[in-house]
Parts: sequence; structure tokens; C-alpha cells
Amino acid sequence: MLKAKKVRLYPNKEQQQIISSQIGGARYVYNRALALRKFAYSKFGLKIGKFALINHITKLKNREKTSWLKEIDSQAIQQSIANMDKAYQHFFKGGGYPKFKSRHHSRQSYQYPQRVKIEGNKVFLPKVGWVKCKGLRKEFVGKIKTVTVSYEAYQYHASILVDIEDEPLKPCNNPNKTIGLDVGVSLVVADSDGNKVEPLDLTRELKKLKTKAQQLSRKKKGSNNRAKAKAKLAKINLKIANKRKDFLHKLSLQYAENQGIVVIEDLKIKNMTKATKGTVEKPSKNASANRGLNRVITQQSWGLFFELLEYKLSQRGGQLIKVDPKFTSQTCNECGHISKENRKSQDKFVCTACGHSANADINASKNILARGITRQ
Ligand SMILES: [Zn+2]
Repeated sequence: MLKAKKVRLYPNKEQQQIISSQIGGARYVYNRALALRKFAYSKFGLKIGKFALINHITKLKNREKTSWLKEIDSQAIQQSIANMDKAYQHFFKGGGYPKFKSRHHSRQSYQYPQRVKIEGNKVFLPKVGWVKCKGLRKEFVGKIKTVTVSYEAYQYHASILVDIEDEPLKPCNNPNKTIGLDVGVSLVVADSDGNKVEPLDLTRELKKLKTKAQQLSRKKKGSNNRAKAKAKLAKINLKIANKRKDFLHKLSLQYAENQGIVVIEDLKIKNMTKATKGTVEKPSKNASANRGLNRVITQQSWGLFFELLEYKLSQRGGQLIKVDPKFTSQTCNECGHISKENRKSQDKFVCTACGHSANADINASKNILARGITRQ
């Protein structure tokens, strides 16, 4: 299934110039090809085909006067000729005669038939490079077909045509089953079936991130090297974000495919984080601030996890229930006794009233499940 998506582009000054010359080049090629075809037909009754036109334009690249065509993406040139050809086909089927494109009255655009890439909130356009954009969905799945770059009302846009393969939806195995999940400050999940999910290991990436951040801090402001170091840092950040997203996708899918109802704590109420300094792009030198930062990232991750989980559950007719997180970690799941003393350590839960002992997170997930069941 083909789907179109329009995103706003934010090219820098240099990229704006390149885009505008691509648009100009595509228009020139369109008009030149149209003129040649028209001339050949009216003078000699000759029909010049698409490939002959492409050859002709390619030759123009080697003429001094039109050597600037070398700067135009060659596939965009071919696409421009293909579009002119399409307009001609339309004419043969009874449509209007193809018009020449005007700098002022035609749509200012050009097209890539392939080679466009998307990563995070950036789009790679051949000849232009990576351009910042806005409007991409969280997940951009599918094969990119054509991309039309346009300029109108002082704004740049890319219309991306994607071929989305409809993935068959695997139904839920146990639609009547309910499970409770406890999520931790470090990316850990414990469930009321007694499973603990291995957290995502980002040690290597975070170490690299730290090194690159230090390297960046040593570069002189406004220097070329600083820009390079910044790009490297951004690349690692993107990699980490993608790895985390991938992890959360798989985890949420696993729960949505195996239980009909999932109970979680309402994160809006649960205060997992305290305000911290520093941002993801610019980690603070202060270790405790960085720990705080990790907590912020963790909370954001759980936010995404619950969103994905809710979506995947609802796709299968399931449901996500949010409950009050109050005392879930201090309540004994066996006798209901609530006490801080029940928590012997981060991991260990031993009830001071009945002696019940368990992994603290799994005990909490069972309390979460119980609250969800009473809510149903
Ligand atoms: Zn107890």
C-alpha cells in the first residue's frame, strides 16, 4: 500500500541554495526536453522517446554553457524527463498539451526517485545532505518510493511516498489473562508471573557518549572541529535512542501478544525522578546530575513503553490499566501488611508480619496486578 507523508524541511543556508538550484535544474530539464520533443515533432514529425531525451540532457552536461547541469542530481534529471513524458502521455489520452514550467507560476519542486534516507528527525537528500525535518511519525516504516522536495510560501517540504507492507497482526494468545508489570528506575521490568526482563545493555554506547562529550567540550567554540565533534555526539545519541526504541518495541509486543490485560502503575502519580541539570545532548560533568539524567531518560522510556503497549494491546482487543502506585513496593502481597521495613534492600522483600519473602520488584508487580483486578 502506498502512503504519502509530507514533512517540513529545515535546510541551512547552504542547503537552501542547493535545493533551489535543484529546483531550477529540474525545471530547465523539463522545459528543454519538452521544447525538443515539440520541435522534432512539428518540424520533422519525429517522436523523441524518454531515453533519447535523457541522452540529450546528459550530453548537455559536457557543453560549457550547460555544464552547470552536473550540479543537478542525475536521477532528479531523469525524473524530470519522466514527469514531462507522463504529461505527454496524459495529453495523448485527451488531456491538455504539456505546458512549460515557469519560475513564478509553476510549483517549485523536484523529485528523487530513490536514494533518500530517513534517520530520526533527519532526511538525507542526495546532493543536499542530511536535512533537519519536522512531522515524521515516531515510527517510519516502509520502503521509500519517490520524494518530492518543494518550496512554497518561504517553506521547504518533502512529500515522501512510502510503500508500506501490511504486516500481519499476530493475535493475542491469552486474551483473558491479566498481568501486572513493575518498571524500575534502571530499565528493568518485573511481572506478576515472576519474570524479570533483562534490561537493555547500553554500557558501551554510554561510555562512547561520555568520551565524545568530553572531546566536544575541549573544542574551541565556533571551530570546524567543534562542529565535527558535535555531529559525532549526535550520531551516538541517535544510535542510543534507536536501540532503546527497538528494545521497547519488542518488549511491548511480547506482552501484548501474550496477555489480554496489562496493569501498570500510573507514572503521572509515581515520582521516579527529581529535577536535574543537563540534557541528553549535553551531559553534565556532575555524576549525580548524570544519574538524575538517566532517571529522566528512563521515565521518558517508560512513557513510550506504555504508549506502545497500549497501542499494541488495543490492536488485539486488549487493554492497559493504570493503577495508583502508592505503597506498591512496601505492601506484602501475601498478607497485605504495609511497612518500609518490608523492603530489606533494593532487591529483597521480607514481610515483617508474616515472613513472606520474595524479589521486591516481583512482589510489587503482584500488588499492581491485584489493584488492576479490583479495578476491573
Ligand atoms: Zn506479609
